[in-house]
Amino acid sequence: MKTYRIACIPGDGIGKEVVPAGETVLRALSDAGAGFRFEFSSFDWGGDYYRLHGVMMPDDGLDALRPMDAILFGSAGDPDIPDHVTLWGLRLKICQGFDQYANVRPTRILPGIDAPLKRCTPAQLDWVIVRENSEGEYSGVGGRVHQGHPIEVATDVSMMTRAGVERIMRFAFRLARERPRKQLTVVTKSNAQRHAMVMWDEIAVQVSGEFPDVKWDKELVDACTARMVNRPASLDTLVATNLHADILSDLAAALAGSLGIAPTGNIDPERRYPSMFEPIHGSAFDIMGKGLANPVGTFWSCVMLLDHLGEREAAARLMRAIESVTADASLHTRDLGGTAATAAVTEAVCRRLQS
Ligand code: ATP
Repeated sequence: MKTYRIACIPGDGIGKEVVPAGETVLRALSDAGAGFRFEFSSFDWGGDYYRLHGVMMPDDGLDALRPMDAILFGSAGDPDIPDHVTLWGLRLKICQGFDQYANVRPTRILPGIDAPLKRCTPAQLDWVIVRENSEGEYSGVGGRVHQGHPIEVATDVSMMTRAGVERIMRFAFRLARERPRKQLTVVTKSNAQRHAMVMWDEIAVQVSGEFPDVKWDKELVDACTARMVNRPASLDTLVATNLHADILSDLAAALAGSLGIAPTGNIDPERRYPSMFEPIHGSAFDIMGKGLANPVGTFWSCVMLLDHLGEREAAARLMRAIESVTADASLHTRDLGGTAATAAVTEAVCRRLQS
C-alpha cells in the first residue's frame, strides 16, 4: 500500500492544537479505507525550540524535511520573540529554502457559516488567491544604517524578477484554466509603483497569450478590496504580489466567515521539494492551550495536501466530511459564534469519515 511521509510542524500557539487534530483526521481517513497510509514525523521547531537553542529550527532542518512527501504546518509566532525572527526563522526559511513560490489560498463560504456580506450567497463567493511567495516585498532585501541615531535609515526593497513573475503568472493562468469559469484577475498597483508593477502588468499580457481560453482582467489592489466586498461574484481566480495577496487573503477569509477556516498551500509546482500546507491563521495567543481553536482551516489544508499528492478522491471525501460538520451549528467553535471545542470538531469529522 502506498505510504506518504508527512512532516508535522505544529510551531507555536494554537498550531500545537490544530496540527495534531489534522494528523488525527488524516489517520482516520487512511483507517477508513482510503487506500493509502501515512507515516508522520513531528518536528518541535518554533518558539520553545528558540528558547533552548537560539534558533527557530536547526540549520540542517531542511535536510530532514527534503525526503518528505508534504509538510503540515501550524503557525510561527511567540509573544516573547519578535515576529520577524519567528517568521523568517521558520516558515519563510522553509518556503524560500524549498522555493515554494506559489501560495494558493482558496476561499468559499462553507455550509452553515454565517458570513458577514449580507447581499452575497455562498454560491457567489468562490475564489482562489494565488500569492507570489518567493520575492517581491518579502524578498528580505534591505537594511538599516545609523541604528538608533537621528539619521537612521531603513529600507525594504521589493525585488521582482522576470523569471519570478513569469512563473507565478503562468501558474495562475493554468490554475484559472482548470476552474469552471476560466477567469483570472491580475491584481496590480502599477499606477503608483511605476517600475516593478509595470513589468508585472507587461508579463501578465505576455503570458496571457499562452492561455487564449482564460478570460482575464486587471484590477488595482485598492479597488480590488472594494470589489471583493461589493461584487464578490465578479471574481474567481486572482494573482497578486506577496504583500498584496497576504492582505487580500485575510480579507477573503474574514468575508468567508472566519480566519479559523481558511487554508493555504505553499506549493513548489515543479515538485523538486515537498510543498507545505497550513491554516492561514496565526498563533492566536488569546485562545492557545484552551482547546478552543477552530481546526477547520487545518482540515481544509489537509484537503489541499491530499489533492497535491494526487489523492483527489480522498481529498473530496475529507472536504465532504468538513462541510457536513460546518453545516451543524452545534459543532461551531467560538470564532463562529459557537461553543464547540477543537476535540469535538475533530471527532465529528473523524466519525463522518468512518460512516
Ligand atoms: P500571528 O501574530 O501569529 O499572526 P495573531 O494572534 O496576531 O497571530 P491570528 O492568530 O491570525 O493573529 O488571529 C487573530 C485572532 O483571530 C486570534 O487572536 C483569535 O482570537 C482568532 N482566531 C484565529 N484563528 C483562530 C482559530 N483557528 N480558531 C479560533 N479563533 C481563531
